[in-house]
Amino acid sequence: MSYQVIARKYRPQLFDDVAGQRLITDTLKNAVIKQRVAHGYIFSGARGVGKTTTARILAKSLNCANGPTVTPCGKCPSCVEITQGNSVDVFEIDAASNRGIDEIRQLRETVRYLPARDPYRIFIIDEAHMLTTEAFNALLKTLEEPPPRSLFILCTTEPHKLPTTIQSRCQHFSFRLLDYSEIYSRLEWVVKQEQIAADEGALSAIAEAAEGSLRDALSLLDQAIASSADRLQEGHVRQLLGVVPVQVLTELMEAIGAGNVGRVLETVERVASEGYELNHFCGELTRYIRNLAVARSCGAESPLLQLPSSERAVIARLCERLSEEDIARFFQVIVRTENEMRYALNPRFQLELGLIKMAHAARLASLESLLAELRGARATPAVKPEPGPPGGLSRPAPAAGRKPEYAPRSAPPANVPAQQPERPRNPEKTPERQSMPEPRSASAAPPPPPRPVSEAHSDPRLSRIKSLAFGQSKLLSSCLEPVSGWRFENGEVKFIFPKSDSWAVSFLSAREQQERLQALCAEVLGQPVRICVTLDSEVTPGPKPRRSVRERAENDEGVEALVKKFRCTLVDVIDLSRE
Ligand SMILES: [Zn+2]
Repeated sequence: MSYQVIARKYRPQLFDDVAGQRLITDTLKNAVIKQRVAHGYIFSGARGVGKTTTARILAKSLNCANGPTVTPCGKCPSCVEITQGNSVDVFEIDAASNRGIDEIRQLRETVRYLPARDPYRIFIIDEAHMLTTEAFNALLKTLEEPPPRSLFILCTTEPHKLPTTIQSRCQHFSFRLLDYSEIYSRLEWVVKQEQIAADEGALSAIAEAAEGSLRDALSLLDQAIASSADRLQEGHVRQLLGVVPVQVLTELMEAIGAGNVGRVLETVERVASEGYELNHFCGELTRYIRNLAVARSCGAESPLLQLPSSERAVIARLCERLSEEDIARFFQVIVRTENEMRYALNPRFQLELGLIKMAHAARLASLESLLAELRGARATPAVKPEPGPPGGLSRPAPAAGRKPEYAPRSAPPANVPAQQPERPRNPEKTPERQSMPEPRSASAAPPPPPRPVSEAHSDPRLSRIKSLAFGQSKLLSSCLEPVSGWRFENGEVKFIFPKSDSWAVSFLSAREQQERLQALCAEVLGQPVRICVTLDSEVTPGPKPRRSVRERAENDEGVEALVKKFRCTLVDVIDLSRE
């Protein structure tokens, strides 16, 4: 008996056997059951994802002696002939080799006659995008007025190359690439049917290399079985596929994490001298780092990981020693490197450059730890800040210490002293109310007159209102952000806004927002209140002398700490609220 390749031997014969295209097969099944099959279909998608297979199953469903049925028998002459590719009423045309007008003319001749034996005359046109313009025009005529009991199925990897006139006359189904796990489980099933023992890692390497195409995976499996003595072993299969062993990738990542550039370069040398293709190697490394990122964020047991269980443990161990930030940095560098290698004259240099960058990136201190240090310095300015945490593998993940994103913006950090009214925390947000520039010297400025309203940043009740608003509505919260002052007397709460923020006033004047704000204020102040929103000039006419921006910046604790930390000088101060 002649040998049949695995991809053909295990070709699905029923809609339910087609892997990974459930949505499409269900739709087609419904069309068959309801007898609402269209005259033209476009099946698009990458190679080896089931387009032609599905087209044949649809043909069998319609032409089976027991049909139309969604479970063609596979035994009647029609089913058998379609499987063998020699049915009298089902024509498979390869447009890549028959792309001219003559073939399509011939096809149109054939269409004119009714099916010879079966209910439908079906044309499956493979690689349909390869047809010439004339051929498309001829085909279009047929699709415009399809003869009864005829069906066209256009299979293509490049649907955008089909004329829109053709597309609009067909139902279009996009076949998706298969997941790693879908391919892996199919491979597992096939080796079981073939009674072949296989390493988990061997099948995993094949599933990865197939990149979403099931037919590619089955062809690679065929190749691997043919070249193995008995059992499919991981090392052998990886060698066959030109994929570096996982240990090499793990060692490389450990060297990068430790910032050991020497060891990193030695690994590249080893990989290159053993004849592995470096672009391919970089692709492997990208996938490995992607797995690290997934494992770090979702845990090593996540189904998002494209890995067999044996490798999951290794990945889990490695990512315990790397911070989320490090991995994100590595991911960014390797993706860019992979891209640049494609156009580089000497891809090896590009790869080495990328890996060196990664090794150095592992030594950088994280932004969080730097900020935490800075905050510590502000709380106890007399104490010299501790040196940064050691880089590399021993650095703990910063996630625990990070400030949660949903923290109300108005809440000050715990270790910062209470704000002084004359030294606002956000100088750039507090508008300058004076129109003339002021002298630099502090003594020249007259002392500020007593304020009729509270300074917006100093009142804990306002902070509380703002943080409640933040929890309720982002919009309301951002409207309260620019409040420059507020007053609470005789049951009325007055919010005062700088002139530049009149949009907030008009927004908060809407009834719905007023009611919301009213409820919030009543909750914080413990009594029913009226709300009044108004612009600054309406309350405090006349200029209010304040210290210059430069002066305020010079006296700001935060600026002071930054200057000290980075050993720099203050060159220029820009008031953003005025620009
Ligand atoms: Zn049949």
